[in-house]
Amino acid sequence: MLRERVSEDIYVFTSEVYAQVTAGIIATPDGAIVVDTLPFPGESRQVAAFAAHVSPGGARYVVLTHYHADHAYGAYLFPKADLVAHQRARRLLAEVGAPALKAAQAEAPELEEVRLRLPDITFEGGDMGLQLGGKVVRLIHAPGHTDDMVMVYAEDAHVLFASDTLMPVPSVVDGDVDALRASLRFIDELQVENLVEGHGEVILRGEVSEVVQASIKYLDCIETRVAKVVEAGKGREPLRKITVEQCGLSRIPLGGLVQQIHMANLFALYNRMLAAQGRAA
Ligand SMILES: [Zn+2]
Repeated sequence: MLRERVSEDIYVFTSEVYAQVTAGIIATPDGAIVVDTLPFPGESRQVAAFAAHVSPGGARYVVLTHYHADHAYGAYLFPKADLVAHQRARRLLAEVGAPALKAAQAEAPELEEVRLRLPDITFEGGDMGLQLGGKVVRLIHAPGHTDDMVMVYAEDAHVLFASDTLMPVPSVVDGDVDALRASLRFIDELQVENLVEGHGEVILRGEVSEVVQASIKYLDCIETRVAKVVEAGKGREPLRKITVEQCGLSRIPLGGLVQQIHMANLFALYNRMLAAQGRAA
């Protein structure tokens, strides 16, 4: 696990085990606010230990940005902290997360000890403020990657944990393209000093707008190209010829995962467009 300090009291952790997934700590004199956990217990334990090192009493809150396994599996390792998420995360964790964990445990013995935790505190609607030790943190509902997505904005330091709303390539397989575009536009309106992606690197102020615009362009591009394949009516095979580079992004980050996510996006969009026309996928 890599650790980086992005402002006086804010730390970012990046997994060295799985897909460069990130977690964060906002340290305060009254305890730490942890943003997401890491998928495997070993790394999440290190985050918990570091929270105790930088804040008296350790983690007070753990915010889950969304229900996906790679962000949520470590929550049980913070038993004294309240778990905070969007209302929709509760249902998704129970209905989708729980059976998925069982399947994952059958494949990966390291996950055997993982216990899925449901949120203690949830909110509905646009946003919720969280105050601790003189710090104000805003939880912003930002659907698109998933329906329950929450971004975490540390207002004093202008650090945004964008989670999977911003990744080296957007992922819409479990989400909605229009909603994601709207959430990306919202990021562009914030005054962000540092932006923490859900996977990959921390983006600095001068680059945020460019990265956000590249994600929006990518979404426009895959929609246009997949629509053409649907119109041609020759099946889904031509999707394989649409490259991530043609839509303005690179396949290099995340060690091969970008290409997988890109292909999954194309097939998901294709199926949705066919379904919208009343044709079988
Ligand atoms: Zn995700």
